[in-house]
Amino acid sequence: MLLPGDTGFDQARLPFNLAVDQSVAAVAEVADAADAAALVRFARRTRATISVQPSGHGASGEVEDTILVRTKRLDEVRVDPVARSARVGAGVSWGRLQEAVAPHGLTGLAGSSPVVGVVGYMLGGGLSWFGRKHGWAADSITAFEVIDANGDLARVTADSDADLFWALRGGGGDFALVTAVELDLYPAPALYGGRMLWPVDRAPRVLEAFRTITASAVDELSVWLNLLDPPGPRPPLVGVDIAYLGEAAVGDALLREFDSIGGRISDNRRPLPMTELGTIAAEPTKPGRSQGHTQLLARLDGDTAEELLARPIDPLLIVQIRHLGGAFAGPSDTPAGAIAEPYQITFQGLPTAPEAAAAIRTRVQDFRTALDARLSNRTPFTFLAPGQSAADAFTPGALTRLRDIKRRVDPDHIFRSNYSVLA
Ligand SMILES: Cc1cc2nc3c(=O)[nH]c(=O)nc-3n(C[C@H](O)[C@H](O)[C@H](O)COP(=O)(O)OP(=O)(O)OC[C@H]3O[C@@H](n4cnc5c(N)ncnc54)[C@H](O)[C@@H]3O)c2cc1C
Repeated sequence: MLLPGDTGFDQARLPFNLAVDQSVAAVAEVADAADAAALVRFARRTRATISVQPSGHGASGEVEDTILVRTKRLDEVRVDPVARSARVGAGVSWGRLQEAVAPHGLTGLAGSSPVVGVVGYMLGGGLSWFGRKHGWAADSITAFEVIDANGDLARVTADSDADLFWALRGGGGDFALVTAVELDLYPAPALYGGRMLWPVDRAPRVLEAFRTITASAVDELSVWLNLLDPPGPRPPLVGVDIAYLGEAAVGDALLREFDSIGGRISDNRRPLPMTELGTIAAEPTKPGRSQGHTQLLARLDGDTAEELLARPIDPLLIVQIRHLGGAFAGPSDTPAGAIAEPYQITFQGLPTAPEAAAAIRTRVQDFRTALDARLSNRTPFTFLAPGQSAADAFTPGALTRLRDIKRRVDPDHIFRSNYSVLA
């Protein structure tokens, strides 16, 4: 336990996104589940609030005066290749889980970053590279091991407490301290993927090919479009990130549309070991500053593409469109439910100074105004950013149900999620 003034406290309270300040009362690193239970009982006795934050990838800054809990020592991964399942501790990152399951020809429903925590991602629903094939990652969870608000260890399943199980599969970290999850794994005999880049003047052609390919893509194929403005004196670029759950030759054939676009600067598509899934999107793996906004995109027709290209993305670093659809649009017994919108769009910049942060906000607002009705007013929970709330992720009906469950299981509000359902 580190308190303000202790050596190492200021380092220990830092989140992954260094643009977010966290003025917490203490930082606690739990040794094991029993230690975590003792911490919850201590919080209960002293009327303190707990914010579990394994890595700080989803930090919102809403942690004032809470005890920030680090879970990195809950690092056990147990794989049952025959049952195609795993039990994953609350300190395990996606990169670690993929390394443990890949030798068995299996995969979990991982997202783009190898350093994001499995449990935090799952508690927010989790949008995976393989979600078009298998749906929300949280739908793959079969059990949560938790410390409840009384400080007791419990195993939550659909049979033990259907409401709480539903809330944990995407409603965030408001309901318990999760020590481990049990999840299903999926066959992954082959993976093909990588990134292609062109100069930005090819953006109209790349967007057109992206629209054509995503309009009829098989569920095993996920393609994301990136408009990039790298820092420094480097020219803007357009590119696509690809993950295909299958053989290279078949993947290539599905992507022909891109081959006829000349001037390609680079193309690192290749058969990938599942352990390299996290390299495709080339996201930073070390803490840094970031400021972004994400919304679901209801359509990407020719007019929408024109609006996207009508202005430079500068001062943003990236505008990314992720193709959803497939199983994302199917039924899901999670707080977020089915995603009807076929795309998600993210705007992201580097807020090096207050003026840069203001310029990023203005540019994001320009895009939102231009895209207007094509944007739905919904942001997937794991992509909420500071200033947003759980109400931006859920329908009013789902939010009411989450709030009722929160009041039942944690009436004294011991647990504080980054985006609390009560806020
Ligand atoms: C580079 C990058 C790439 C990303 N890519 C994707 C992606 O492809 N798909 C996607 O869906 N999301 C993605 N995300 C978002 C990410 O999934 C969320 O930020 C997620 O909340 C991170 O979980 P964490 O545990 O790593 O982060 P943290 O900030 O440490 O935790 C986030 C929240 O989860 C809850 N929580 C975590 N662990 C526990 C626990 N043991 N018990 C109780 N509550 C807990 C807490 O409420 C906590 O505030 C990405 C984020 C980054 C920075």
